[in-house]
Amino acid sequence: MSGIVVIFDFDKTIVDCDSDNWVIDELGFTDLFNQLLPTMPWNSMMDRMMMELHTQGVTIEDIEKVLHRIPIHSRIIPALKEAHALGCDMRIVSDANVFFIETILKHLGIREYFSEINTNPGYVNEEGRLRILPYHDFNKAPHGCSLCPPNMCKGLIIDKIQNSMYTEDNKRFIYLGDGAGDYCPSLRLKERDFMMPRKNFPVWDLICKDPSLLKAEIHGWSDGEELEQVLLHLINKINMDINSQFISPDCKLHILSVSAPEALPKVLSVRP
Ligand SMILES: [Mg+2]
Ligand SMILES: [Zn+2]
Repeated sequence: MSGIVVIFDFDKTIVDCDSDNWVIDELGFTDLFNQLLPTMPWNSMMDRMMMELHTQGVTIEDIEKVLHRIPIHSRIIPALKEAHALGCDMRIVSDANVFFIETILKHLGIREYFSEINTNPGYVNEEGRLRILPYHDFNKAPHGCSLCPPNMCKGLIIDKIQNSMYTEDNKRFIYLGDGAGDYCPSLRLKERDFMMPRKNFPVWDLICKDPSLLKAEIHGWSDGEELEQVLLHLINKINMDINSQFISPDCKLHILSVSAPEALPKVLSVRP
């Protein structure tokens, strides 16, 4: 483990569109969706749309087939693979749902790169209908964050991840996202962390209003190619910082065994 936690939004960050819109549009339900949208929150709307799809004979297999051909930039999978190989702990925080995300990641063969997926619950019920539920039960316990939609505050999820790591002080976070929902978590990042907003998308515009509100360093990206370059650059930079500050017990033994002080930098430089 490198001590780096990389947190990815999913829609328009890992895949190059919104998975909810993709399914609705590809199955020909856009008009109904647009009609119903003003009447309820997005997450409740998706559950309702899954009922409409089921009623009109769309099967789970039909939905899976559409998810399997979702657009993704050609550099995203190599970027994820490399970040994983460099020892990053990679997690997803998304306002899509677990059924869509798992179906896509498994199809692409990249599910195992992620240690955790934080998203809205989703499951296929006994009638073969997909149910989509809110991450926070907003009727019973509203999350109270005014920046976020009622079903999910990504900032609270970041708090939970940060608190779950008792060696948190050594962990460095990199957060990637595009949407307005990625703004709240960007405010939770610390000085040693990095925010990677997608340029000219809602989170970018929100950050640009007053970048000084963020403690983390800001590094924009515009497409999968730039995402790969910026992300791998940051991971390598952090790893170099860590290597120059931190000496493992193994390494200490090495150092003890060398007598000349000038040999020290050499010993450090062989660390991966
Ligand atoms: Mg997104
Ligand atoms: Zn929030």
